[in-house]
Amino acid sequence: MSNLIELKVPDIGGHSNVDVIEVFVKPGDVIAKDDSLITLETDKATMEVPAEAAGTVKEVKVAVGGKASEGDVIVIIEAAGAAAAPAAPKPVETVGVASATTQAGFAPQAAPVAASHSGGADVECDVMVLGGGPGGYSAAFRAADLGLKVVIVERYSTLGGVCLNVGCIPSKALLHNAAVIDEVSHLAANGIKFGKPEVDIDMLRGYKEKVIAKLTGGLAGMAKARKVEVVRGVGHFLDPHHIEVSVTTGSGSETTGDKKVVKFNNAIIAAGSRVVKLPFIPNDPRVVDSTGALELKSVPGKMLIVGGGIIGLEMGTVYSTLGARLDVVEMMDGLMQGADRDLVKVWQKWNAHRFDNIMLNTKTVGIEPKEDGVWVTFEGASAPKEPQRYDMVLYATGRAPNGKLLGAENAGIAVTDRGFIPVDKQQRTNVPHIYAIGDIVGQPMLAHKGVHEGHVAAENCAGQKAYFDARVIPGVAYTDPEVAWVGVTEDDAKKQGLKIEKGVFPWAASGRAIANGRDEGFTKLIFDAETHQIIGGGIVGPHAGDMIGEVCLAIEMGCDATDIGKTIHPHPTMGESIGMAAEVAHGTCTDLPPQRKK
Ligand code: FAD
Repeated sequence: MSNLIELKVPDIGGHSNVDVIEVFVKPGDVIAKDDSLITLETDKATMEVPAEAAGTVKEVKVAVGGKASEGDVIVIIEAAGAAAAPAAPKPVETVGVASATTQAGFAPQAAPVAASHSGGADVECDVMVLGGGPGGYSAAFRAADLGLKVVIVERYSTLGGVCLNVGCIPSKALLHNAAVIDEVSHLAANGIKFGKPEVDIDMLRGYKEKVIAKLTGGLAGMAKARKVEVVRGVGHFLDPHHIEVSVTTGSGSETTGDKKVVKFNNAIIAAGSRVVKLPFIPNDPRVVDSTGALELKSVPGKMLIVGGGIIGLEMGTVYSTLGARLDVVEMMDGLMQGADRDLVKVWQKWNAHRFDNIMLNTKTVGIEPKEDGVWVTFEGASAPKEPQRYDMVLYATGRAPNGKLLGAENAGIAVTDRGFIPVDKQQRTNVPHIYAIGDIVGQPMLAHKGVHEGHVAAENCAGQKAYFDARVIPGVAYTDPEVAWVGVTEDDAKKQGLKIEKGVFPWAASGRAIANGRDEGFTKLIFDAETHQIIGGGIVGPHAGDMIGEVCLAIEMGCDATDIGKTIHPHPTMGESIGMAAEVAHGTCTDLPPQRKK
């Protein structure tokens, strides 16, 4: 069976009749999804248009020097398929994730028809894990510990994925240094003065690299110790039991031309997500995504953060402490969406000194690199009338799942239009022996969620009956102060009309917070007004992220305010603010002025 597909120019930000300056394909070429087809150039930016489907190019409808608009056909390709495939699973609903949408909400997907590979295989295994990020390596190691023969297919030279290489860990290595610089500067108020810090940016970058190397090296050792084989290269499914790996070399994902085929009984897809690049974002070294920002090449004088979420604000914290002045532009009505506004307010007040302009309800509509800087145009409630000049622009507007880049259709796996892979509560895709975990299955895109899902998938591969049934997944902004939240937020409870009780302990009444000179924060616990069980919590203050785990445990265990308040917490610690917030909820707190009788 063969079918012809027209690949068209997508939404290009309202531009029309745009110049076609490059065409990368010709009739007869075999293209993968997301391979670049053409480059378009407007007066503001160039953008590569990726293929939305894989196949063989039959006809190219555009030429260099021509024009193109949204909806114009670029190429016609032929895609081929064979046997029938099972229906997509119902998406999983993850309970109580305060910060983001969950796997729920996927439109039902038609399952593609699987292909059939007639050739041999170079490697055979019980479980093939596609992607060596936190989800993938955790799944692989758990499966190996359960006695299975495991292969990880990973395109990069190190395991650890986004989290260890260009995400959680390098950002925290830099944030740690920034936090120490900030903390030391606060000591001047106590009579202890240090000079202005001298920052050797090459050494700081070197420190971050060392942290990454230590952790990724550790993973390589642990894979070896478990006899988990790592096949280096880009994986592309051939059928429901085979994946072709285009071997890669160097530190990136440059292919050598060699191919290997891995045959598997079960597969776990853990191929993660990638940065979303809006069409008007130009290619210019001063315009960076989070990976570019983590390279820490220099410290700009004036920096714009496009997108006021956690990733942008964490990186902004680092650059600001190193000397940059910040502007932030956010389309929504507040920064750090997902967290309760009262928590964010404390962070915002403490950080006001870093920002020249916080532009809410505002869109970035143009970015133009010039010799004297990057000029940015805005539209919306707080948009400056004239374009603004920046030395560096960080775009942190979200991440897209990699589901459409894997040849999943050849294995008969359903993928949503946005590239998520729907799974059930056992992490199974619509193809029963193929599982998916981590960023690729839905929000929240967080490492700790992927790790737990990875264990569930691995246990099911080993014949156990495992389910992802976590009640809650915490979210943390590792800014200064940190903002951490879990379960039902107060703002959500209000919106949904839930009847709640809350206990709030202000850190201004905490001996330890006062001793630390950091009493700006508070701890808030949220209880169901009928069952009195804890259903959520939020903390703002230094180390909030380290403390929120106790609230997660309390929710998982179905604790009420008495359980938490009667648990003896060590004094003086910030952790005891959780016990005290619970005491506030049931009216027994003696560290605050007398409470009104309930
Ligand atoms: P990934 O980590 O994305 O790993 C996927 C792997 O699959 C990659 O190694 C990739 O190379 C490989 N791969 C993809 N396609 C193929 C293919 N076809 N063939 C071979 N290999 C392939 N989360 C937190 O919980 N806490 C944080 O503090 C935090 N901070 C972050 C900071 C930044 C700047 C960023 C960008 C992210 C941060 N995250 C954080 C998110 C976290 O990094 C991700 O949620 C997590 O890495 C997802 O894990 P994963 O295993 O699903 O996928």
